[in-house]
Amino acid sequence: MKIAHRFKHSFAAVAMTSMAALCVNNTQAQTAAPAAPAAATAPVAKPKLEMQWLGQAGFRIMTPGGKLIVVDPWITGGPKAPANYKADLASVGKIDLLLVSHAHQDHLGDATELAKINQTKLYGPADMVTPLTLLGALPPELGHRFNKTGAVKPLPGIKVTAVQAEHSSLLVLPNATTNKPESHAAGEAIGFIIELENGYKIWHMGDTGLFGDMKFIAEHYKPDLVLIPIGGNFTMGPEDAAYALKTWIKPKAVVPMHYNSNPMTPGTLAEFNAAMKGSNIKIIPMTEGQTLVF
Ligand SMILES: [Zn+2]
Repeated sequence: MKIAHRFKHSFAAVAMTSMAALCVNNTQAQTAAPAAPAAATAPVAKPKLEMQWLGQAGFRIMTPGGKLIVVDPWITGGPKAPANYKADLASVGKIDLLLVSHAHQDHLGDATELAKINQTKLYGPADMVTPLTLLGALPPELGHRFNKTGAVKPLPGIKVTAVQAEHSSLLVLPNATTNKPESHAAGEAIGFIIELENGYKIWHMGDTGLFGDMKFIAEHYKPDLVLIPIGGNFTMGPEDAAYALKTWIKPKAVVPMHYNSNPMTPGTLAEFNAAMKGSNIKIIPMTEGQTLVF
């Protein structure tokens, strides 16, 4: 597996520094460890989490247990998705778990194709998976339907809970006969609490506007890292995202997403940083294609 580490940008270096309190890479872990006795065997590598931003709400997550999770893969149509993945969807790797938050194209993206390539189940909102299978876009055996506050344990040590997102969901597919695009109701959008083998919890919020039960979700599930949309127009903008984080969610760390890919989502990282001023929540900005090691 080839992972691109692009820490040449100064803000990325700052992000790594700011993450140090909660996440360490192997080098740091080994540096911090007490000196090993001379006769000791080679140090055991600390399990790590690798997370790559595919642009928009897409993430490729290698878990500490070595499982590959892909969320909302908008790759071939995604303007900021890594070029090597665009050229060959199989190069994303052998996907163990595929999660889709709702049916909008910048989230469903290439998920049905990836499910078929990998013979991996697509986990998504029940009423999105149903039309996907009924309309022939996804083989029924590759769809898993679940819904808000429902949890699944698709892999050993990994638990995914569907949680509320304040958003809509519409599936657009070409008519099988005329090839003209047709829209289909696709249930409600969701977010995901992804608990990894080591207990680390990521809240991928999906697309969402501000809603008061973000406080409940944070209190109940206690996410360590939040992936939050800041682009505005279709979701929270920078100010509302900052309000939710500072007032209700209060995670250890946050990665802003769902901006910089679509002119209709004008929120910027600079606006988000300004709105988060005074908070001690670690902001971890990523560039599209970048991989961070936690
Ligand atoms: Zn959407």
